[in-house]
Amino acid sequence: MAYARERETFGKKIIEHRGLAFVLADMEAAIVSARATLLHAARLKDAGKPFSREASIAKMVATDNAMKVTTDAVRVLGGYGYTRDFPVERYMREAKVMQIFEGTNQIQRMVISRSLAKDNSGSISRDTIG
Ligand SMILES: Cc1cc2nc3c(=O)[nH]c(=O)nc-3n(C[C@H](O)[C@H](O)[C@H](O)COP(=O)(O)OP(=O)(O)OC[C@H]3O[C@@H](n4cnc5c(N)ncnc54)[C@H](O)[C@@H]3O)c2cc1C
Repeated sequence: MAYARERETFGKKIIEHRGLAFVLADMEAAIVSARATLLHAARLKDAGKPFSREASIAKMVATDNAMKVTTDAVRVLGGYGYTRDFPVERYMREAKVMQIFEGTNQIQRMVISRSLAKDNSGSISRDTIG
């Protein structure tokens, strides 16, 4: 964000270019929605309710979003994003492995779809907290 507020191209801060501002908006939305899925699964566990489907959703959404957000962060920094002068290239590499370990995201999709197949509630999204 500091770089986007500081760097100027075509007579404007890059954050004022709509093309880049929308990338930043998508990044923020991806981070907030990842956090929400994580907290939802954690609240279910704390309440002693079934949470394995929601934990898989949280792992998949958070790590897929981390991959997208860190890739976009490299884009925001332009050429600098690719260099080791800034940490974002490392964040992008680290995000990749998070899609792989602790059950790859393909395996999380399998867990979620199997849970949906067994669910007789009639709703694709169960309301589990209340
Ligand atoms: C940095 C790092 C740290 C790790 N730390 C640990 C650790 O501490 N403890 C530990 O036990 N393991 C650890 N692992 C191993 C990690 O859990 C495995 O790499 C991961 O489970 C994927 O298994 P695999 O590498 O054998 O890939 P494979 O199982 O060969 O999968 C290859 C690809 O096929 C897909 N795939 C496989 N089966 C299916 C299926 N049924 N349906 C759809 N797609 C499928 C996968 O999603 C993946 O995209 C670590 C791995 C890394 C990279």
